[in-house]
Amino acid sequence: LHVTSPLAVAAPVAPTLDQSRYLTQVMRLKAGDDLLVFNGRDGEWRCTVAEVLKKGVILRAEEQVRPQTFGPDLELIVAVVKKARVETIVEKAAELGARRLRLVLTKRTNADRIRLDRLDAIAEEAAEQTGRMDVPAVDDPIKLDALLDGWETGRRLMFCDETGGAPAVSSLHDAGEGPWSILIGPEGGFSPEEGKRLRSLPFTTAVSLGPRILRADTAAIAAMTLWQAAVGD
Ligand code: SAM
Repeated sequence: LHVTSPLAVAAPVAPTLDQSRYLTQVMRLKAGDDLLVFNGRDGEWRCTVAEVLKKGVILRAEEQVRPQTFGPDLELIVAVVKKARVETIVEKAAELGARRLRLVLTKRTNADRIRLDRLDAIAEEAAEQTGRMDVPAVDDPIKLDALLDGWETGRRLMFCDETGGAPAVSSLHDAGEGPWSILIGPEGGFSPEEGKRLRSLPFTTAVSLGPRILRADTAAIAAMTLWQAAVGD
């Protein structure tokens, strides 16, 4: 279970009302039962159900079972596509270890209304299911130009370029250290001007994900998997 409370021996832990309902009505936990809890800072703890109240449950932190660890400093940046596909991308990125997800608005973005609270809930559920101890943040959509103008020094960008001629992801193998971001474009691809700017940036490496045109959600999954094989862990 992912909580926001600090976790320390004998500390009370107060899940949200929804989480309490899930613990008591779905998992049918009673006082004295154990469960594993994480909060993205203090590692993973064995907690005990201390009290079942009308309005929620109180847990007690007993012992740390795993210290806090983080996956690679990998960020997935995706152009906003159809809602269902964005939700798939968030879930798979959380499973594949992305530390952060950023949504970008491009010239050809066809943005359904993005509900960040829903995306956060999907990221949290995927983090719990996959056993990671942090939940990837999902940032508000930002214009591509603003993202590139404010680029973090030292971070590298793997630009997934389907327009032909880019090397395979394996070429990143000797690309060396450094936090990485992966960029996936919208259904209609990047505009020629956007592609030209992206290819010209010193921190960008354009790569191909193969000869076929992939949908954005397939491309996100393929790109992260290939990145991990070439660079990450
Ligand atoms: N421009 C494509 C077209 O006209 O059919 C569609 C873009 S594709 C649906 C969405 C994004 O996925 C692309 O902008 C690119 O970032 C990524 N992508 C898809 N297939 C790819 C490939 N074979 N190599 C590299 N990136 C790919």
